[in-house]
Amino acid sequence: MTKGAQLYEGKAKKVFETDDPELLIVSYKDDATAFNGLKKGTIRGKGVINNKMSNALMRYLEKKGVPTHYVEELNDRDTVVKRVSIVPLEVIIRNIAAGSFSKHYGVEEGRVLKIPTIEFSYKNDDLGDPLINAYHAMALELATEEEIDTIKKYAFKVDEELKKFWESCGVTLVDFKLEFGRLSDGTIVLADEISPDTCRLWDSKTGEKLDKDRFRRDMGGVEDAYQEIMKRLEEHI
Ligand code: UDP
Repeated sequence: MTKGAQLYEGKAKKVFETDDPELLIVSYKDDATAFNGLKKGTIRGKGVINNKMSNALMRYLEKKGVPTHYVEELNDRDTVVKRVSIVPLEVIIRNIAAGSFSKHYGVEEGRVLKIPTIEFSYKNDDLGDPLINAYHAMALELATEEEIDTIKKYAFKVDEELKKFWESCGVTLVDFKLEFGRLSDGTIVLADEISPDTCRLWDSKTGEKLDKDRFRRDMGGVEDAYQEIMKRLEEHI
């Protein structure tokens, strides 16, 4: 499988066409952004880690019954995925209060939530990815009711499986963001990535942050945290 024309360059990845119209190649970069692109930087080695971690977790989730866009890892940074049209919703699941949830609702970071929560943001950089509810999403034709039901079902299944997996690594899955896409026949599959860029992952014993919050909050030790979380994954997957 070889890279054809570049289709798109995002904040953390580039996407290329292939000789198969149903397949694309995603190439992971070391570039990092936060706060809707206001903060920019580089996390050395991040692209390799996110590529390998996301692929390993997608393979794991496929085995547990969640369909994904994953096809084949080509090398350290490049992966073949199924071409999808992305549902323009960021799907966020939370087990523990942190980040914008803590801020919006005045809840201290680290409070264990009575039940996992789901929320949607409208994927639109110009608007700053505003929170949106399922009725808004249907009214604006971003997704159908059936698609939203499927997305919710998969998102909670991903939470259940990844919570257990990370627990076995001594890591607490605090919250994460998923994106879903439609295959050419309309089937909904998990797409984008699952990585320390898109999840909050805390050491279960010490509470140490092993994710992109170290970059967002200028905490230092960003590269080391990405290496550490990858090591934990490789020891347990
Ligand atoms: N997240 C993400 N991309 C975004 C916004 C959030 O991957 O554009 C992830 C983030 O890493 C965290 C979860 O979604 O794991 C919840 O993020 P939150 O809403 O608390 O926003 P933040 O505090 O990161 O702005």
